[in-house]
Amino acid sequence: MGFRVAGIPGSLAAEVRQTLRSPQYGHPAYRETATGYGPCRLCLRTFTEGVEERILFTYQPFSDPGSVPTPGPVFIHALPCERYEARVFPPDLRRLPLLLEAYKVGGELLGRERVRDQSPEAVLERLFAATGAAYVHVRNEEAGCFMARVDRS
Ligand SMILES: [Zn+2]
Repeated sequence: MGFRVAGIPGSLAAEVRQTLRSPQYGHPAYRETATGYGPCRLCLRTFTEGVEERILFTYQPFSDPGSVPTPGPVFIHALPCERYEARVFPPDLRRLPLLLEAYKVGGELLGRERVRDQSPEAVLERLFAATGAAYVHVRNEEAGCFMARVDRS
């Protein structure tokens, strides 16, 4: 089974950079020099702390009708970067504490698993196979925040 990992929509990130507001909620966004690893939710790369500028804003990752919104704080690079979209698990996310959550269309949670010392690909395969999920959210196991979405391909 194949899968595809993607960052948040590029148009949404562009709007954040242009308006310095959350496109989904209108809350002010906040620009600062990175004091943590992130990652950037668009390119899915971790930040160079103390060097790269980033923008903090409120993001809601569910898009299917009927799903319960889960707004939370996320970061993107302040300067333009390229949206991640690939059939390969993002290299920078491998080093982070990962929680994978499997959902069916409509946002019902079907299963979740901590990656820990396993390979993310193996956990993804198992979750998709065991639950029949339509998509998976990658979250930070410690902070809880949304990092990326995985679809079957
Ligand atoms: Zn970026």
